[in-house]
Amino acid sequence: MFDVVAKGFRDVRNRFEGKREITEENIDDALKDIRMAMLEADVNFRIAKKFIKQVKEKAIGEVVKVKAKANEKVEVTPGDHFVKICHDELEGLLGPVDTSIVFSNPRLGPTKIMMVGLQGSGKTTTTGKLAKYLMEREGKRPLLVGADVYRPAAIEQLRQLAERIDVPVHAREGADPVEVCKEALKIAEDKDRDIILFDTAGRLAVDDVLMEELEQIIDTTKPENIFLVADAMIGQDAVNTAKEFNDRLEVDGFIMTKLDGDARGGAALSIKEVTGKPIKFIGVGEKLDDLEEFRPEGLANRILGFGDVMGLMDRFERTLSDEEAQRAEKDAMRMLSGEFDFNDFYNQLEQISKMGSMSELMEMMPFFGGGLPDDVAVDDSELGKIRAIIQSMTDKEKTNPDLLTKQPNRVRRIAKGSGSEQEKVEQVIQQFNMMRGMMQQFSNMGGGFLNKIPGF
Ligand code: GDP
Repeated sequence: MFDVVAKGFRDVRNRFEGKREITEENIDDALKDIRMAMLEADVNFRIAKKFIKQVKEKAIGEVVKVKAKANEKVEVTPGDHFVKICHDELEGLLGPVDTSIVFSNPRLGPTKIMMVGLQGSGKTTTTGKLAKYLMEREGKRPLLVGADVYRPAAIEQLRQLAERIDVPVHAREGADPVEVCKEALKIAEDKDRDIILFDTAGRLAVDDVLMEELEQIIDTTKPENIFLVADAMIGQDAVNTAKEFNDRLEVDGFIMTKLDGDARGGAALSIKEVTGKPIKFIGVGEKLDDLEEFRPEGLANRILGFGDVMGLMDRFERTLSDEEAQRAEKDAMRMLSGEFDFNDFYNQLEQISKMGSMSELMEMMPFFGGGLPDDVAVDDSELGKIRAIIQSMTDKEKTNPDLLTKQPNRVRRIAKGSGSEQEKVEQVIQQFNMMRGMMQQFSNMGGGFLNKIPGF
């Protein structure tokens, strides 16, 4: 998702290469590129215009420090600075974060969530996903209500989803949806359910009959939360639909679906600015687990093409002392120039375990493009085992890892010393080799790569 805008920002950053200052002349072309990228990504044109204006106002006239001497760390280049301004503006456009769900006082009855949206937007699927999320994250006991009595398969689809997550459904084919929703309030109490999700009817377009029906359901059930499910793939149409629904029903927030298939992402970038309501969750696939809380900070970085690198740098700063940070930076430079041995691998594991979960961190590293390949992925609980294996290597083996390639005797000795299976040792060696291979690939990408990472 967001590939199109991300590419636009990357091109713009390259424009600033070697420039010392942001001036009226050099910024105009850059802003034109951004405008094009935003429109191509199907961002609402008024929003693109406003965005450009704000970035321009903030950026012009800024003289920024550039590299003073050869070898000295680049502080902030005009390109970095420009990206930072865009980053802040993007966050403003997408945020602030509000993924809250309003829960009722349990003594007063179950919480009610009403799902609304056009047919095909992913409403029924998302109802199932959200129920699963609420069970797992909030320990809730949901009841699903099939109030889409018009789409023939909707109730059956809801029943199948409910069966997979083992929750009850209330629905009556052909019945009045308002009645069905009303009955559900009583049924939830009888079945000791503390949250009700109403899967309401959709249409191909917004129409009065549908809106009246939804208003009646709202009057009858008084939901604490009304979430509009919008299909990101339909771009600006999703934003227009959101606006129409919101004008009439006052929704509390949006769930943008199919962001996994939408390379443009313009709807997600426009919806909050157009409606004033936040995106609560995003759908990133067809499976029941493919629902994520919406986190604009991460997204702004991803759009700018840095993975979550800024967050990663912040964490580095918070976790390491100055001296450690300097050493870590030196190590990082050395590793990114292609040198990488088992001591580095071990130190990386140590630092990573200090900072948080390995998988989480790897997802933030831009060079891994949002996660490690499966065969390199390291389970957090395995960190201890890997440490023991490395500690059981001789110094020579650690600094010259090729000594371990196809050496069953050495592997056997290490397995014994660390209390692991030989297979496990082989696997760690393989993981190490994969990682070293990746490091070497980065180094082959040339020095230009490092300049693209803030802080290097
Ligand atoms: P409804 O008519 O609004 O209830 O829509 P459905 O729940 O039946 O979904 C329509 C189609 O979109 C189905 O094929 C879903 O599997 C698919 N879908 C829903 N959410 C997502 C998503 O986040 N990503 C992808 N790729 N497909 C989705």
